[in-house]
Amino acid sequence: MQTIPSLFVTPRLRSFLPLLEEFLHQEVYPLEKLLFSRPFADLEKNELATLRQKVKSAGWWTPHLPEKDGGMGLTLTEFGLVSQLLGTSPLGHYAFNCQAPDIGNMELLQRHASAMLQERYLKPLVKGQIRSCFSMTEPAFAGSNPVRLATTAKKIGNQYVINGHKWFTSSAEGAAFAIVMAVTNSEAPPHRRASMILVPTDTPGFVFLRRIPVMGETGSGYMSHSEIRYENCTVPVEYLIGKEGEGFQLAQERLGPGRIHHCMRWIGICERAFDLMCRYAVSRNLTENEPIASKQIVQQWIAESRAQIDAARLMVLHTAMGIDQYGAQAMRAQISAIKFFVAQTLMQVLDRAIQVHGALGITDDTILAFWYRHERGARIYDGPDEVHKYVVARQVLKNYGLKI
Ligand SMILES: Cc1cc2nc3c(=O)[nH]c(=O)nc-3n(C[C@H](O)[C@H](O)[C@H](O)COP(=O)(O)OP(=O)(O)OC[C@H]3O[C@@H](n4cnc5c(N)ncnc54)[C@H](O)[C@@H]3O)c2cc1C
Repeated sequence: MQTIPSLFVTPRLRSFLPLLEEFLHQEVYPLEKLLFSRPFADLEKNELATLRQKVKSAGWWTPHLPEKDGGMGLTLTEFGLVSQLLGTSPLGHYAFNCQAPDIGNMELLQRHASAMLQERYLKPLVKGQIRSCFSMTEPAFAGSNPVRLATTAKKIGNQYVINGHKWFTSSAEGAAFAIVMAVTNSEAPPHRRASMILVPTDTPGFVFLRRIPVMGETGSGYMSHSEIRYENCTVPVEYLIGKEGEGFQLAQERLGPGRIHHCMRWIGICERAFDLMCRYAVSRNLTENEPIASKQIVQQWIAESRAQIDAARLMVLHTAMGIDQYGAQAMRAQISAIKFFVAQTLMQVLDRAIQVHGALGITDDTILAFWYRHERGARIYDGPDEVHKYVVARQVLKNYGLKI
């Protein structure tokens, strides 16, 4: 597989990336078939726990963290290249403890949580002893406009009493805590109304309603999405993350690098799907000497996919370098552009790979159909495509004098 663009590979990655690729082939891809025979929650306790131990022993655990915190001290651009390789398997990021939403929550707690919260929740999260989730979206309101939230956190004495209804809280089943976005001051300007509060999931009033079936799969444990009700769920005021009213600011901060992580993971999926497509196209014959790959339309899909994936990767790595150098705010429009461009590329490449595989493509005998089900959401979560296109267009048109 041609997955490592040498242009962006730094000296410390030059020796690491081939080792990582080999590890994925030997230890990770062979476990993927278990996704179709056993619940994920069961794999977490068994085969995946062993796999994670192997990653730790190799010294590759939490590669996104600074060295002083046990990570590899990579820049965002370097981690993007690692993330791309890990993304070639649905188990990659989980195996290395850099999976969403935990990776975003780790970064958030590192920067904005008190020493007490870091000791109690960040440390075990980094060690992989616990998992976490992020609880913001509500079924009753359009998540695309996150300032409209009904969940409240009322300060009573030295406690927050949280009431609300959330859904698509990914990976809530089995998580030790949720980071909940709740309105702490409904009189404040819209972007100053909400705060982030850490809620241990064993707090009375944290009511787990269901795992939500997605495209026919309910999933379990880390690989599931849940609906949660907060009913007079009460936590100490010390469980506030950052300051009151900073919820949206922190969410934005969490999402900037998060979009690089997602986009590079999607490019990893594209590369694997592309590889499967090419292998199948040359090995499946229509007549004795005529493989599917000899057909011009298949060649066109392959050429277009190659160009789209390469373009997507250059856009993402360029954005990551910009964030490394100038910060996420300066790269806001580019971050929006990669979010919709790469999600669209992902859908197209997966669809073509499935089409080339014929009936086999929609079975679970390859990994393609799994991704087709689970990654359709890529065009919706972290902001639907339409919202990001608006951000890009507004930025461009402002330069032409349009006032919006
Ligand atoms: C797989 C998956 C995992 C998720 N994980 C989490 C999680 O862990 N935690 C969490 O809190 N949330 C999570 N979410 C929720 C996600 O953040 C929301 O789905 C997203 O913000 C969109 O909100 P919505 O679903 O309410 O869609 P809506 O806001 O109701 O939008 C519906 C549609 O309207 C259109 N639209 C919206 N705004 C505009 C616009 N400005 N211009 C034009 N068209 C527009 C778009 O086509 C959009 O898809 C997850 C979602 C998915 C699919």
